Amino acid sequence: MTTLLEITSLKTWFPTRDGIVKAVNAVDLKIEEKEKLGLIGETGSGKSILGMSIIRLFHSSAKINIEGKIVYKGKDLLRLSEEEIRKIRGKEIAMILQNPATSLNPVLKVGDQIAEAIQLHQRLAKRAASEKAVEMLEAVKIPAPDKMANKYPHEFSGGMKERAMIAMALACDPSLIIADEPTKGLDVTIKMQVVKLLREVTKQRSMLFITHDLGVAAEVCDNIAVMYAGELVEYAKTEDIFKNPLHPYTQGFLNSLPERGLKPIRGMSPSLINLPDGCRFHPRCDYATGICKTRHPEMAEIGNGHFVRCLLYDRS
Ligand code: SF4
Repeated sequence: MTTLLEITSLKTWFPTRDGIVKAVNAVDLKIEEKEKLGLIGETGSGKSILGMSIIRLFHSSAKINIEGKIVYKGKDLLRLSEEEIRKIRGKEIAMILQNPATSLNPVLKVGDQIAEAIQLHQRLAKRAASEKAVEMLEAVKIPAPDKMANKYPHEFSGGMKERAMIAMALACDPSLIIADEPTKGLDVTIKMQVVKLLREVTKQRSMLFITHDLGVAAEVCDNIAVMYAGELVEYAKTEDIFKNPLHPYTQGFLNSLPERGLKPIRGMSPSLINLPDGCRFHPRCDYATGICKTRHPEMAEIGNGHFVRCLLYDRS
């Protein structure tokens, strides 16, 4: 397999009035060509910020400090100028943002929004870009795509808006799609339709699939990375995460699924401004011992590509 994107020691921090938000802390991650990698964790664990860091999708006035390396096809994206990253963003790496209701421009027809995204990266006349936008809507199975291209976002249902976002992401034929909670807020039937569509349209591409929905991740992903309080705590093949979760947080997360008894993890995720010392999960962990309060565990391979960050497995 060929590595498409490799993240090393990624840190994304930003100052707020209350202190520094340490949203991503020393994350290492690889995405192979055609791999679908799930990034799962509770809301506020840093998943979306990690996804946005890859293509620096932050407002130009935001004071964001990003360190580490993000190598894509041999280029470190963090060393590129704003103009250079703009050429990659959308064309080679596209992001499907959370919440299409707010991501689509309410005053522009959906077809025009997709055509604009196409024209940003391809030298196409407006008419050709509009025709391509209709093709993209057809590709994501929007019925009567030529008519729907002339409608505004409020005339689309929730599932159709999500399809339109997928069409926009696919418009320039990217190698990597970062999909941030693409099924959030959809009812079960529509959710499964969107999952099926994503599987179809990413057959020949790589995808970083960000979600807190484990059931959806199981349907889509080859491998899963579990994120907690800004860092990865477990990484393995999808079936190993489900059959043999090692980290107490992953176990708790799985146990909160309805089919596994709907038992929530006690307590709350820590604030990314005030992270606990030692293992970040220790205030909520049923297996915590004294050393967990002071020693920060490293990510270690337990075998067969299964990595975990927990002192229960520490052999040093
Ligand atoms: Fe729990 Fe300790 Fe492992 Fe952290 S290091 S997950 S507190 S057992």
